[in-house]
Amino acid sequence: MRFQHPQTNAIRIQTERTNEMEHSTPMFLTSSFCFDNAEDMRAAFADETDDNIYSRFSNPGVQEFTDKICALEGAEAGYATASGMSAVFGSFMALLKQGDHLLSCNAIFGSTHTVIAKYLPKFGIDYSYISADATEAEWEAAIRPNTKMIYLETPTNPGLDILDLAMIGRVAKKYKVLLNVDNCFATPVNQQPIAFGADLVVHSATKWLDGQGRVLGGVVVGKKELIKEIYLFCRSTGPALSPFNAWVLSKSLETLDVRMERHASNALYIAQQLETHTSIASLRYPYLESHPHHSIAKQQMKNGGGIVCFELKGGLEAGRKFLDKLEMLSLTANLGDTRSIASHPASTTHAKLTEAERQAVNITPGLIRISVGLEHREDILADILQAMGEN
Ligand SMILES: *Cc1c(COP(=O)(O)O)cnc(C)c1O
Repeated sequence: MRFQHPQTNAIRIQTERTNEMEHSTPMFLTSSFCFDNAEDMRAAFADETDDNIYSRFSNPGVQEFTDKICALEGAEAGYATASGMSAVFGSFMALLKQGDHLLSCNAIFGSTHTVIAKYLPKFGIDYSYISADATEAEWEAAIRPNTKMIYLETPTNPGLDILDLAMIGRVAKKYKVLLNVDNCFATPVNQQPIAFGADLVVHSATKWLDGQGRVLGGVVVGKKELIKEIYLFCRSTGPALSPFNAWVLSKSLETLDVRMERHASNALYIAQQLETHTSIASLRYPYLESHPHHSIAKQQMKNGGGIVCFELKGGLEAGRKFLDKLEMLSLTANLGDTRSIASHPASTTHAKLTEAERQAVNITPGLIRISVGLEHREDILADILQAMGEN
């Protein structure tokens, strides 16, 4: 049964109740599924029925998680994967072939950049990067006769640029190019790229979707015929989501809407309090009027999200000192957790880039990224202030 509002579906979509009459979905920790007779088994293998066969192909708990993401994103179909990267990689490998060109924004997740720049060329798939600030004319000019897919993230990590989904959706449609959007930073309760013309949406479920830093997971949703190709690629190559992780993630989706509201209101408060602080050279939050893409953010996002970035005066050294002085905020390579997290991209996640590459995507030496958690906002702010040298 489906309800009118996606938030309700994220709570109420559930596997069919078993004879035990459980209220909460049980875990289906099984690698394979049984058949009553040879004919049923033959029919399942011949794709004449959609009975579960083997958990690399499908699993009821994994399907429940996938169905909820489809409801939240407004997508026809989906396939859940072991991590966000396997969702990204599967969406490339299933739909691109030798001789195709992928057009991507340069401000993307580090491992996605590695896949695009190091591995896709091995399969004869060409790519080029475009800036997050590109105009509609520049996007159009970047499309080549062999461009098959546009790939982007918005908001970008960690620069928090906002790409105009309606504009890029128009370009993709005009040139009949697939639009593939990594919606990890916003989550579907804040932004739904399909409504702006995306054909595919990929997620790292590891981040806000889990929301508590427990498990890895990923998912790709979108047009049925595209998902079919991705499913066939993945069921043969094996990046299936663990049924245990699917259970954890599906439970998390029941609270996604309320969690994201609080993450965003805490983040907005922290951003407002820090914006004019004397230790900070500049600060970015999509729902502050000072953000260069504020009006686009208002158009396509319900709130500003849970990430705040700022540049400390004093560059690299100030950034490292700030991290060392934090008492509550965690130093860890994740984001989208109940616990607030601070990171310094220039010395960690983006250390492999050249100075010029970092500059091109707004990663300045003193840039600090805060993933704002669900602790009381005053406790989060107090720790940030004391780490900047104020008590
Ligand atoms: C973390 C992340 C990924 C990769 O997801 P994993 O679950 O770590 O494989 C992809 N895109 C973005 C924007 C991310 O933050």
